[in-house]
Amino acid sequence: MILILFMVTIFSSSGTTDGRQKFVPFTDHSARTTLQIFSLAAAYRSRVYPTREGGRILEFIYSSKQFKTKGGLTAGTATTHYYASEEFKIKQEKTKCFTCSPQEVISGGDYKQSTYCHLLLGLFFCDQVEFITSTFAYSIVQAFTAFEDVWRDICNDIKHGTLSERINLAKMRKAVLSIISPNPSLASKIEENCKELETQNWLGLITKLWPNSKYVYSIMTGSMQPYLQKLRHYAGGLALVSADYGSTESWIGVNVDPYLPPEDVTFAVIPTFSYYEFMPLYRENHDCGSAIDDFIEDEPVPLSKVKVGQEYEIVLTTFTGLYRCRLGDVVEVAGFHKGTPKLNFICRRKLILTINIDKNTEKDLQLVVEKGSQLLMSKARAELVDFTSHAELETQPGHYIIYWEIKGDVEEEVLGECCKKMDASFVDHGYVVSRRTKSIGPLELCIVKTGTFKKILEYFIGNGAALSQFKTPRCTSNHGLLKILNGSTIKRLYSTAYS
Ligand code: AMP
Repeated sequence: MILILFMVTIFSSSGTTDGRQKFVPFTDHSARTTLQIFSLAAAYRSRVYPTREGGRILEFIYSSKQFKTKGGLTAGTATTHYYASEEFKIKQEKTKCFTCSPQEVISGGDYKQSTYCHLLLGLFFCDQVEFITSTFAYSIVQAFTAFEDVWRDICNDIKHGTLSERINLAKMRKAVLSIISPNPSLASKIEENCKELETQNWLGLITKLWPNSKYVYSIMTGSMQPYLQKLRHYAGGLALVSADYGSTESWIGVNVDPYLPPEDVTFAVIPTFSYYEFMPLYRENHDCGSAIDDFIEDEPVPLSKVKVGQEYEIVLTTFTGLYRCRLGDVVEVAGFHKGTPKLNFICRRKLILTINIDKNTEKDLQLVVEKGSQLLMSKARAELVDFTSHAELETQPGHYIIYWEIKGDVEEEVLGECCKKMDASFVDHGYVVSRRTKSIGPLELCIVKTGTFKKILEYFIGNGAALSQFKTPRCTSNHGLLKILNGSTIKRLYSTAYS
């Protein structure tokens, strides 16, 4: 088999938390398995949420540019390749649901312009839209947040059959203008709905504007969990279906219980996609001291030997030539579906925050930030937009920094309380001991300017990433990113916990 090399974006399967680039092979087999898992998942979904044949999908999907390596191989992100492939068209025909946007919008290369056109076309076909989707939930939240600012222009375009000046890519303009035509009655209906929605902080935007949509479908587990609350707000009671589990290296499992809320979703492994091994992981005795990693590993076992309740790291041997490749994800076996294990996604394996003997994972950080943001919402009319963190080792003693972008005005006193709450919420024994003994300094909460995380997204996209695979790095020591974060910090607060 000829290997075509496709570059994994800077949000690659192993670099999710800090944006490192990696190349992995991508072949016809990869594209075929993508089609298989999408068709399989669509079949399970249709049992619970039947959709009308010939309906449409509002898909917030984006592809970036492909390029040739020095050796002449084509490189690009996995999603870029998929959206340009025959399989993408076959999937639409097989599932009898067609995306609203033409290829010129998906592959336009400017995510802001693509988002505007996805929204415009999604609204132009609003009565036909059966469901709303993106690869990762972040993209849907990002698109609707943008909609809050551009809806008037979109209504104007629908009214007159025109396209806003902000779209300056010739091919995209031509493609969109060939689809839309003036529809003043639809425009005024949307305008009325938007005026009402604006007064309700856009609660239930999806059900209001896409009245025939049956569900929202996207990856909502793992690092996407922090966006669930906002997504639920926009969805206003519409079902949220958490999408399947895979990586650029290989697809892994399908959500066979689409009726479950994203928090309870598991993924049934498809045994034929790769050869899967599972490396048992045991949580380390917290008194063990200065271990660098937080798990003790055991010998990998095959798929047939996994045990319910045990945590594992997935090891893949793929049809594209990767041999015993460690994925870096921690999963737990939740049960079985016809003999194949159902996996619960726990977190990325890599420790993200560590100064000395403390060990905090992406999941630990998420829980802590959740506590802080709950306090923020209860004490102020404000919400957390996005967050990231950094283990600051340059000053002594080292300490954690959490960066928050928030929407709404918050008094400094409340922010101070949030900071203290988060510091006190890290339950890792190493952290608690180090804080008590002052070998780790007080947690620092940096409030960044509105739009900072958009800037971060643009920074990654400028470095060749695709929005479809974007995951905000939850911890970073990337200099470019820290420069943006520190340059945008408008308030710094220090925890008074442990004092
Ligand atoms: P990428 O190689 O950019 O496609 O990213 C793959 C990584 O995304 C996986 O190793 C997981 O960490 C994460 N991921 C993919 N699918 C899911 C899912 N359904 N739930 C949680 N995390 C996921």
